Amino acid sequence: MNDIIQLSETVANQISAGEVIERPASIVKELVENAIDADSENITVKIEDGGKEKIQVIDDGIGIKPEQVKLAFSRYATSKIEDADDLFSLSTLGFRGEALASISSISKIEVITRHKDEMKGKKMVIKGGEIKENTTIGAPVGTNITVTDIFFNTPARYKYMKTTRTEFRHISNILNKEVISFPNINFKFFHDGKNLLDTPGNGKVKDTIYSVFGKEMTDNLLYINHEEQFVKIEGYIAHPSYNRSSRIHQYFYANGRSVESNLLAKALERGYKGYLDKGKNPIGFIFITLNPILVDVNVHPTKRRVKFSRYQTIMEVLENAVKSKLNSINTVKNINFTGNKNNQKGKQQSFQYDSDNKTINQSKNKQKNQQQPEKSSLFKENRSNKGYNNQNQRTVIKNYNNKRDEIDLDVEFDFKITKIFGQLYNTYIIIESEEGLYLVDQHNGHEKIIYNELLDKYNNDKDIKTQSLLTPVNIELSNTEMDIIMENQSTFENLGIHFEQFGPKSIIVNAIPIYLKDKNQKSVVRDIIDEIVKQNKNVEKSKLIEEALKYVACRSAVKAGEQLTNDQITYIVNNLFKLENYDRCPHGRPILLILSKEEIDKEIGR
Ligand code: ADP
Ligand code: MG
Repeated sequence: MNDIIQLSETVANQISAGEVIERPASIVKELVENAIDADSENITVKIEDGGKEKIQVIDDGIGIKPEQVKLAFSRYATSKIEDADDLFSLSTLGFRGEALASISSISKIEVITRHKDEMKGKKMVIKGGEIKENTTIGAPVGTNITVTDIFFNTPARYKYMKTTRTEFRHISNILNKEVISFPNINFKFFHDGKNLLDTPGNGKVKDTIYSVFGKEMTDNLLYINHEEQFVKIEGYIAHPSYNRSSRIHQYFYANGRSVESNLLAKALERGYKGYLDKGKNPIGFIFITLNPILVDVNVHPTKRRVKFSRYQTIMEVLENAVKSKLNSINTVKNINFTGNKNNQKGKQQSFQYDSDNKTINQSKNKQKNQQQPEKSSLFKENRSNKGYNNQNQRTVIKNYNNKRDEIDLDVEFDFKITKIFGQLYNTYIIIESEEGLYLVDQHNGHEKIIYNELLDKYNNDKDIKTQSLLTPVNIELSNTEMDIIMENQSTFENLGIHFEQFGPKSIIVNAIPIYLKDKNQKSVVRDIIDEIVKQNKNVEKSKLIEEALKYVACRSAVKAGEQLTNDQITYIVNNLFKLENYDRCPHGRPILLILSKEEIDKEIGR
């Protein structure tokens, strides 16, 4: 080993740049935060080639004094704190004094800045930590920083940069987060010369959200404002009917700083408990205000994560804030368990998708059932003999205790079904076989059947039958979503969803697959988009399609809590057990619970 030496400032900066500057989006974040800290009213961000080629941030803030520009680029140089105690009364986003030093050590950076009290501005160019130019020039008050040659001297990082689209998305996401928490500032964002974002800067959070996500989002937002103990929660949550299948639209801010936190996400979800279907995620823009002494912002160089003291209380207050709002707006709780009318409708829809395939079998059953009285003899027997079924319709076991031949099971399974009793809790189908008692989860089972059918259809014709919509559906998208959607347009077409881009922030869906015909088209298509956006990390097309089909199957299947007709029960039993792996739904959840006759006998002691 060599002797110990003190690393040069440039090398030290390069090393710390590794922590602060992970990708072009980190540069955007740091520069934008500096512009915000400088009391700017207007901030323009221009990037080229997903930020890999060029990043420029222009602000009209207070600027940097000419004699301090050089200092601003050295490590641990900051105007924002003086000692460590200041960290606990922080009113700025920056405080570590290392962003400019880091960026200038791994790229070429040009700054033109004029301080508000000065007549002249300063231009300085630094590449790889070396000053290339340092002149006095005329400039408007504010700061204009351009970064090029990103990672030119750190090949590992350079190679690590992803496609233009991916880097663009990271930048777009970061900007969305920042702009929402600074509604007083007008932000403009350009990618390769195209204006993608222009916030109103009128101080209104909701108007700012509108400029990022569009009308549909803002139409569905509920204002929350709740103070409890030492925590104040303000912001917007979405009406439960407007939700996402991923957590992508959950924005949390602690004292104005955008933060990532699984715990806060969990608290938000708890607030929605009972209001959202399984697998659905709430949307929220949550601003938490609390004594800065309770928030440690200095846990990571990127400042994305913070540490709260008394996390538990903060989570409880957030949960309460959400709960009390939702309770007050009088939405129907437990959407899964809606009244009978809705169920009836849902039932018909759920079974319509395959009407072409299974009609023969089903209509045969229908006729048979129509001829039968509503309550079978066995049902009556149960009531009179055992006395455990009262008049209450809800708890009555339905009339489904026929013999195997009578219920028209048309396939040989690997076990022999002797009776189908009907539903348990409107959620499970009870079956007796020679081996034992089977409980089939009706939702998971039906989902499995639909999924296999869709997959078969897809594999066979590589094409799913579509129908044009009389009234095309308009769907609003954020910049990030739009980018992913356009990239995967052919995947959508394979899935039977045809659309065109309509303006910078929306698409018009003009054809959908037949199997979605009677569903709430907009929300299903929206959900498939979400699913594809969520899955986008593994962009392999077949995987995307598989996930989307799983999703569709889940959406089309009967729900837990839904009362089924005999036809539907027969249909599920008939079709489920001929599948391979009938005991697992496409998402891997169990479908079947088996209590063997042996076990029953043993437990009872027979
Ligand atoms: P930090 O933001 O943590 O203080 P930076 O390296 O990002 O560290 O910036 C160093 C200093 O340069 C800041 O403290 C600030 O005084 C000055 N500065 C950077 N960007 C701007 C800007 N856009 N407008 C005015 N001053 C700026
Ligand atoms: Mg900074």
